[in-house]
Amino acid sequence: MPRDEGRLRKEVVECGRRLVARGLVTGTAGNLSARLDAVRFLVTPSGMDYERFGPGDLCAVNGETGEVTGPRRPSIETGLHAAVYRLRPDVGAVVHTHSLFATALAAARRELPCILDAMAVQFGGPVPVARYAIPGSKDLADSAARTLGDGGAVLLANHGVVAVGGDLEEAMSRAELVERAAQTFLLAASVGKAVPLDNDSIRWIQTFFRTSYGQHPGQGKEGE
Ligand SMILES: [Zn+2]
Repeated sequence: MPRDEGRLRKEVVECGRRLVARGLVTGTAGNLSARLDAVRFLVTPSGMDYERFGPGDLCAVNGETGEVTGPRRPSIETGLHAAVYRLRPDVGAVVHTHSLFATALAAARRELPCILDAMAVQFGGPVPVARYAIPGSKDLADSAARTLGDGGAVLLANHGVVAVGGDLEEAMSRAELVERAAQTFLLAASVGKAVPLDNDSIRWIQTFFRTSYGQHPGQGKEGE
């Protein structure tokens, strides 16, 4: 096994445990994966508690041929992960949760409008809802990947959330952001209604964060 694959296996296991610790999944629900190369990825095993599997229990899947290597059966949503990697060469990791507030919106088949600056930065607009399909089906894989498009996350009707990123950290933080934003959206409904950001504001925020937020060589001491 290449050294990088060993490290990636450890990261996937660690991220799975973080999903449980942060309340984004319970029991054996949800799954996650990380890309190994152009066609292969690592995915969590089916029906195993996140605390109970280690790096050696992950499945290596060839997304083109469907060939699975490893001692366990892969997640039932492996086809969904494969569909996303096929359509999105820029995606390095996929995180699927059933987090409570985002899944409430998914159950109502309501998209999550772009109501937070952080959503503008991470998603550049609303998080859409893929139409309902049976869990584990090719139909679900296709509709989720298509509805995700070039976005950062998608809700699965009556099911949960899929967040993607260039690496595991980005996909994880997007999964958390979807949940946090869904919670904010639903809380805002108790005092009126959350107001979505308009397109000009979203574009401005995206540009601002790309050019002015964080540490840029040669700049002064400003910002959060
Ligand atoms: Zn699921």
